[in-house]
Amino acid sequence: MAAAQNQYDLYIGGEWIAPSSGERFPSLNPFNQKPWASIAQADESDVAAAVSAARECFESTWRKTSGLERAGMMNRLADLLERDAERMGTLESTDNGKIVRETRSQMKFVARTFRFFAGYADKIFGKVIPLDRRDHFDYATMEPLGVIGIITAWNSPIALLGNKLPAALAAGNTVVIKPSEHASVTTLEFARLVEEAGFPPGVVNVVTGDVRTGEALVKGGGLDKISFTGSGVGGRAIAAEAARNLTPVILELGGKSPNIIFEDADIGKATVGALAGIFAATGQTCIAGSRLLVQRSVYDQVLNGLVERAKGIKLGNPLELETEMGTAANEPQFDRILSFIASAKECGAKLMTGGDAARQGELKDGLFVQPTIFADVSNDMPVAREEIFGPVLSVIPFDTEEEALTIANDTNFGLASGIWTQSLNRMHRVSSELRAGMVWVNTYRAVAAQTPFGGVKDSGFGRERGEEGMKEFLTTKNVMINLSEAERDPFAVQT
Ligand code: NAD
Repeated sequence: MAAAQNQYDLYIGGEWIAPSSGERFPSLNPFNQKPWASIAQADESDVAAAVSAARECFESTWRKTSGLERAGMMNRLADLLERDAERMGTLESTDNGKIVRETRSQMKFVARTFRFFAGYADKIFGKVIPLDRRDHFDYATMEPLGVIGIITAWNSPIALLGNKLPAALAAGNTVVIKPSEHASVTTLEFARLVEEAGFPPGVVNVVTGDVRTGEALVKGGGLDKISFTGSGVGGRAIAAEAARNLTPVILELGGKSPNIIFEDADIGKATVGALAGIFAATGQTCIAGSRLLVQRSVYDQVLNGLVERAKGIKLGNPLELETEMGTAANEPQFDRILSFIASAKECGAKLMTGGDAARQGELKDGLFVQPTIFADVSNDMPVAREEIFGPVLSVIPFDTEEEALTIANDTNFGLASGIWTQSLNRMHRVSSELRAGMVWVNTYRAVAAQTPFGGVKDSGFGRERGEEGMKEFLTTKNVMINLSEAERDPFAVQT
């Protein structure tokens, strides 16, 4: 088990192990900026030990377990996550400042995702492939890849893990997880649940630490795939380094997602959807609808409604159920958000509400940013082009559907998008023209275990959840059998 309360060790091969270097660092609670947990800094030797524990377990045990056994453990883990959703949500909110209403429901969603992929574990079917020649018999099987490196960001540690781990385990892989240095606690607590669920030692390993730990995992080799969620800068560095070892990668990166309100939309619902798109999770979500495109005929109506709702958002202690917006998760992120607000003001975007840190009363020690709305933003301003990852909305007017699509697609990113319209024709027409991995129609930030999640362009590549998520962690083996007694021509390929 982990050592003293709130001091966490590394989880390697089913054991809690102190970091070789003895180095530890504090995790800060962004609500009061006080240290509340001590995290181990894993070095290259710790990472190598975790990868070899995962490899040993893969070869000796996990790849040989039946799908039914894997499903049983995964369903037990889902039970435990549901049992502990409240506790785990509270821990995560303490670590990253997200409100408990969100983090607790995320824990339950991850449990749901485990159940979905547990259902796949005993249905990983191959296929018989009919050939041109009848004297050969051919079949292809689906097999696990081996050891997967999972590297995650701080905004939703367990939800991000839940997009990757269930599919990886169901497919028969073992994993080494490196959570963000800004929010590692729930991933370590999750490892305790893995233990309790009865997984063999070495199936799931957790190494904590800063970027150096992530780099050691990527550089060290011994991985069959890397699944990364984080920034474009991190993703590019990892992809380049992984290429040296020919390790394939899945990259879930950032977004600057357009949320488009057409004049024929239900304006009340669309306004709530726009609010949910940017201020839920304090805007610290890759799928944030951070560019709101509104048709000019309903522009003022939407803007006024939105500003009124935003002014009423309750900022407060992330652990209280009535709080609607928590803190920025860490100081660099807080500074980054404020610098984008300053740049939007300098560029001449019209500030409608917010526009500063929030530091009064019980918020005084926390990394709070006011819900901020800029109107009349031009799509070439940095506030509309860069991912801010905070509660800052750029509202952009448009006249025609064609113009809306041009603005929506004029971005380096391509993760999520939203459309608000009551026209069936328009829903399908616009959906097909948007360059994004995901389109929501008359809703936003709705998720399901069954649906593929991921982006195009600078938002990365690969898919999580759904059938596509499962395929990411499997490889195909083809077996061809000669049934004939005849001798072949050794110098010509057989077709
Ligand atoms: P980050 O890239 O700084 O760090 C993410 C993780 O990668 C951390 O664990 C970090 O230690 C590690 N890391 C960073 N550089 C590395 C390197 N060179 N080698 C190995 N490991 C490295 O990202 P962040 O600031 O923690 O997270 C915010 C970003 O995550 C945003 O851009 C956001 O859009 C993105 N995100 C994407 C999704 C998605 O599913 N598409 C979801 C959530 C967050």
